Amino acid sequence: MRLQSFGAACTVTGSMHLLTLDGGRRILIDCGLFQGSGALEARNHEPYPFDPADLDAVILTHAHLDHVGRLPLLVNRGYRGPVYCTPPTAALAETVLLDSARLQLEGYRQHLRHARRQAREDEVLPPLYDEEDVHRALDLLRPVLEFGQAATVAGLRVTPYRAGHILGSAYLLLEDAGGRLIMSGDLGHRAGGLQLDFTPPPQADAVVLETTYANQRHRAWPETLAEFRDVLCGAVRAGGKILVPSFAIERSQTLLHTLKALMDSSEVPRIPVFLDSPMAARATRAYFQFGDELVPEVRDALRSGEDPFAPSTLHEVLTGDESQRLNRYDGPAIILAGNGMMTGGRIQHHLRHHLWKPGTRVVIVSYQSPLSLGGQLVAGAQTVEVMGEEVAVRAQIQTIGGFSAHADHDDLLAFLETAGCPHVWLVHGEVPVMQAFLPELAARGLKGDIVPDRQDVDLLGSGFSGGRPPGLGLEPGPEGLKVAADE
Ligand SMILES: [Zn+2]
Repeated sequence: MRLQSFGAACTVTGSMHLLTLDGGRRILIDCGLFQGSGALEARNHEPYPFDPADLDAVILTHAHLDHVGRLPLLVNRGYRGPVYCTPPTAALAETVLLDSARLQLEGYRQHLRHARRQAREDEVLPPLYDEEDVHRALDLLRPVLEFGQAATVAGLRVTPYRAGHILGSAYLLLEDAGGRLIMSGDLGHRAGGLQLDFTPPPQADAVVLETTYANQRHRAWPETLAEFRDVLCGAVRAGGKILVPSFAIERSQTLLHTLKALMDSSEVPRIPVFLDSPMAARATRAYFQFGDELVPEVRDALRSGEDPFAPSTLHEVLTGDESQRLNRYDGPAIILAGNGMMTGGRIQHHLRHHLWKPGTRVVIVSYQSPLSLGGQLVAGAQTVEVMGEEVAVRAQIQTIGGFSAHADHDDLLAFLETAGCPHVWLVHGEVPVMQAFLPELAARGLKGDIVPDRQDVDLLGSGFSGGRPPGLGLEPGPEGLKVAADE
């Protein structure tokens, strides 16, 4: 089996891995969008280094945008074959891809308006795809993959296992006469959140492993909950708005469930909770539909007819007008709005209205790219530009790191424990993080390598080994390479 990675190689975004099997069969694992910085996002517009029409199949590990977001483009450029995934991934992919098409169109129109004033409209890149491309891509979905059950894809035996990262997320065991390969997709953090832990993997000859947080240990779940409670209680005493920028899938549901639990047990006062994200509200429907996939506490609540994602004070804000009207709402309230890195979305107008007030709290529960608005707030900026306006930062910015949906250092090593003695190929990580992880693999007697960007590697052959592939030569820039837009 040969692998070429056209995304998530030496970076954390744009997952797209091309597997070439004996006889020339070609399977694409994930087809994600590059997100984060302009340089990375420019790669979305590059031509594919292969003919999409030549692919035999596509398999999606999960529905995060950086794993599915270029699928409509693949279809636009000629792919007509099947796209295999689990049923929850298919349900969430519809929400994610339709939202992506809408955002691209809005972004394009906005850029065009600005560029026209400078007579530079020729420089504005058109949207990658439109809603029609999304529907054509959705028509190709084959949501037939079930955890633990082998399927045949282009003559290859494929068994998906629970990855514990977000609803429906899978890692894949791929088997043919040449050997056994595991593609990790994104793995979840054990013991916390809504998802069951990942299934310990079977033995394999090679593992392509995500390494987003291979250099970190997340705080334990009970400590994270206590921290969240203390931050909320302090914020309620301050009397201002509590703004929680959050991603629509998994993070929003986890936060709503946590808020409900904290309010039901009277650990946090019952102040209004506004979910200002129609996409999050739509995604939550999939959590109802596939409730049996979730941790027992949530699954049982759903079975008994409860809504585990609805604190008693929850209001869903659907229209843009309703969202704007929240600016005139008096008194303390929790506002959950996207996007998670504050680079766009409804959170921006809430920030513009409340960042300058000392009573406001911005509670950050996910990774912030250093150049994003969220990154500037985390770095302690005194003023920031929001929607074209300079705003003083008098609000308190509070970061809670333990809500991550990604495996940490210990989770990744635990994952490898049952996999035998595979050759471990590292993807979906910053280069320095992966380099620091290689000696840990060596200490466990495992051969490890970093998958180079776009180069062809023989996964089950000897590989190049020694950690640094020829021609890698990629060093992180001042802003780093990491974006982790989905975590
Ligand atoms: Zn993910």
